[in-house]
Amino acid sequence: MLSLEEAVERSLAASPLLGSEIVPLADAGGRFVASPLKAGMSLPGFDNSAMDGYAARSADLNGATTESPVELSCIGVIPAGAYPVNTVGEGTCMRVFTGSPIPRGADAVIMQEDCSSTPGDDHTVRCNDSIKPWENIRLKGEDVREGDPLITAGTRITAGTIGLLAATGHHSVEVGLRPKIGLVATGSELVEPPGELQPGEIYESNRDMLVSLLANANGLPTPYPIVPDMLEDTVTALEQAFADNDAVLTSGGVSVGDHDHVKPAIERLGGSLDFWKVAVKPGKPFVLGQVGGKPVFGMPGNPVSALVTYLLLVRPALLNMQGAAEWRLAKRPGCLVDELANKGDRRHFVRVTIDDHGLVRSVGGQHSHMLGSLAKANGLVDLPPGTRLAKGDPVNVQLIDS
Ligand code: AMP
Ligand code: MG
Repeated sequence: MLSLEEAVERSLAASPLLGSEIVPLADAGGRFVASPLKAGMSLPGFDNSAMDGYAARSADLNGATTESPVELSCIGVIPAGAYPVNTVGEGTCMRVFTGSPIPRGADAVIMQEDCSSTPGDDHTVRCNDSIKPWENIRLKGEDVREGDPLITAGTRITAGTIGLLAATGHHSVEVGLRPKIGLVATGSELVEPPGELQPGEIYESNRDMLVSLLANANGLPTPYPIVPDMLEDTVTALEQAFADNDAVLTSGGVSVGDHDHVKPAIERLGGSLDFWKVAVKPGKPFVLGQVGGKPVFGMPGNPVSALVTYLLLVRPALLNMQGAAEWRLAKRPGCLVDELANKGDRRHFVRVTIDDHGLVRSVGGQHSHMLGSLAKANGLVDLPPGTRLAKGDPVNVQLIDS
């Protein structure tokens, strides 16, 4: 059996980097940066006021208090967006607002709350407090300096990144292409919901579940009609899925049963195969293959196995195809409320919930067909063989990004 790490390595190696495209910033959230950018300008772009108040010389206000205020003569108003031409000299100030450029001569802004006006005199500002040099001024380049790295290749674009790019004058960004993914569910027992079930039949539940998971990995899914357990049908379905997509995800039909046709179908299409038993539970068996340079991930049909193998083995590959620098699931430290034990010989990815306080509970039934408990889970705990964890033990929870 392959170790999970080895299986992930093979999965990554089988997933070619797709190209890149330039997208508007508004559509770039969650995508991966394709080429790094340096800041073409500083932020702030000029010294400006952090407050509504008066731009003044800090030296003029030395020792000012309510009891002994200092009076300054206001020589003008600088609304945000205007550029000051006057210089603030000794004994003078200028009215400024948040974002107003700082006029020459001034080295601080006194908040308007610390000032009062003189009745009948619009030009005199009474300052009731002193200020330190550069107080309430946002200095040019204190946030981002021109030439600093702005974004690095492979990072995921967040709302903050988008704000930063827009603030430095960008309206678009180059990102890795979204992989087109064909979804093929195999099984003669499967019925498309909400069709009528005949005895022995079940509803097909993997394709929609995978569509939802793929949304978090920028995948562009195309679900294909359910494929009965017949070699010819499997070959036809896979051929179409490869023609339309960058990668194919199949579910079911990868065991060694008489009705498991995914592997022979890949071979019939001239593809190569790597069949694994990965030492994880749930999860074995799993097929990695490729047809014409495009990867195919043959996941087990059991819904829990399909979800867990998708997260552990397929998601990393799909992120890798987009140039992502990080493909591991996010982790959160927590504390066990339930006891967890793995008496088996494979790593068990136990479905759990982790709450806002970091308390971690098993969702109950851990068998690979149990969707009732899977639906409650928001995380996985990686439990090595022979491990017994007690109530109160610390655990790292891998978050299910769905
Ligand atoms: P298989 O991997 O084809 O041997 O299927 C393993 C189990 O998962 C069987 O109980 C199947 O009925 C079930 N199964 C397979 N594919 C699906 C699917 N797409 N939706 C729901 N259950 C499935
Ligand atoms: Mg089957």
